[in-house]
Amino acid sequence: MAAQEDVFKKIISHCKEYGFVFPSSDIYDGLGAVYDYGQNGVELKNNIKQYWWQYMVLLHENIVGIDSAIFMHPTIWKASGHVDAFNDPLIDNRDSKKRYRADVLIEDQMAKYDEKIDKEVAKGRKRFGDSFDEEQFRATNPRCLENAQKRDALHQRFQDAMNAEGSIDLEELKQIILDEEIVCPISGTRNWTDVRQFNLMFKTEIGAAAEGASTIYLRPETAQGIFVNYLNVQKTGRMKLPFGIAQIGKAFRNEIVARQFIFRMREFEQMEMQFFVKPGTELDWFQTWKERRMAWHQALGFGSENYRFHDHDKLAHYANAATDVEFHMPFGFKEVEGIHSRTNFDLSQHAKFSGKKIEYFDPETNEHYTPYVIETSIGVDRMFLSVICHAYEEQQLEGGDTRTVLHLPAALAPIKLAVFPLTKKDGLPEKAREIVDELKFHFNCIYEEKDQIGKRYRRQDAIGTPYCVTVDHDTLQDGCVTLRDRDTMQQQRVKIEDLRSLIEDKVSIPSLLKGLK
Ligand code: ATP
Repeated sequence: MAAQEDVFKKIISHCKEYGFVFPSSDIYDGLGAVYDYGQNGVELKNNIKQYWWQYMVLLHENIVGIDSAIFMHPTIWKASGHVDAFNDPLIDNRDSKKRYRADVLIEDQMAKYDEKIDKEVAKGRKRFGDSFDEEQFRATNPRCLENAQKRDALHQRFQDAMNAEGSIDLEELKQIILDEEIVCPISGTRNWTDVRQFNLMFKTEIGAAAEGASTIYLRPETAQGIFVNYLNVQKTGRMKLPFGIAQIGKAFRNEIVARQFIFRMREFEQMEMQFFVKPGTELDWFQTWKERRMAWHQALGFGSENYRFHDHDKLAHYANAATDVEFHMPFGFKEVEGIHSRTNFDLSQHAKFSGKKIEYFDPETNEHYTPYVIETSIGVDRMFLSVICHAYEEQQLEGGDTRTVLHLPAALAPIKLAVFPLTKKDGLPEKAREIVDELKFHFNCIYEEKDQIGKRYRRQDAIGTPYCVTVDHDTLQDGCVTLRDRDTMQQQRVKIEDLRSLIEDKVSIPSLLKGLK
């Protein structure tokens, strides 16, 4: 675990050192849980967004995109339930003065029981060697059983408290924390305040004169911009059910427990798609979208063992199914994307609050009804984090050398090709620039002449550039260059005119998409 935390710290400093992610307002010592993307980060982020957008909008005939404003009519957030219920249950430790999410403290405690079980299993495996039967061991070992029983009991109690009639049972959450003897990780004490609710929406004012101004919210999700445009898009696009509307945009949440780098930010970006379906078909569509989204993730080649679904314990009252796609981050399996079957809750609420009829006329059955919705919602920044974490490697090379390399999928890499003249003279720089000038129309290329070739390779490895090309004296005679592959570090001599065809297909987003059905 400690080693994993170490790796995570290294990834954070790597992101800063190589222009991926900077703390916001860095020269003013930063702003909590807000980050800026640097010269390489913005390219990687744009590629992630492209990969999502092209998959959703280009490959699905019945999905279209929109780009709605961040500011919206304040009643929208009443209708959606965010004004009354977009709360986190918070608890403070009086000694450390630190504030925590009560639900997160309890979830961490459940994870501790699982860790204890895993430790017993590891011991068993060591003791019994080849004859070890993990399933039987888990089912019979007294310490495994005891911890599983504790975890399950806690799980049940937690679920009951979160799903209590009306809203979350705050007193019960505190009692669970006390009964489980959960301590503050900073002070180590159990000196807790009561649990209370905290709304996560940022408020601001629209309108110049104070008396004429009205309070509005920075949107905490992009989805509502889609719901309130359902009629506009359906009518103007003459869309037939089932159809989807996709959107990428900023969202804002005043997160209290802001930690783990860009995993939990106060300003972040979401890629959301609402898929409108005929009532009664939603659970089939929920299953379909689970499969499609998982395939999208796995097409990046990070290994299926690094993903899992986590079905929700606490279903919102309007949802009839919900799951998270979790990815194996250095700090455990964590949510990257949520897939929710939201019934007709949002459209019905907006119909009620706006007084407009929001329905679909089904030409096949001659009926009017409010469509049901399957939502897929993924954080760009969390996706970015999972990509960087998986790509990062400190590699031991033969001969005792080491290198830090980002094994980014080529289609997501910020720069696809770096072109180096071997020396800064004899016409080599001119030839190298000629290559860049030709290829830059097709993919992202850079020219580099500073330092030894070896150092230049290392710099490109560190930002995940899949290909480097070196122009040497022979190039001027034979029209060939040395093409070096980031992952294998193998070099081959290729003709300049073949470079585009050798590289373009491998680094393009369509190449990733073609791997998907
Ligand atoms: P969590 O339980 O981690 O707070 P959530 O379940 O509230 O997340 P959703 O409301 O389902 O998240 O949002 C959909 C996606 O938006 C998440 O899967 C995540 O990728 C992203 N996301 C949500 N909150 C944040 C945040 N504060 N910072 C970065 N990404 C976020």
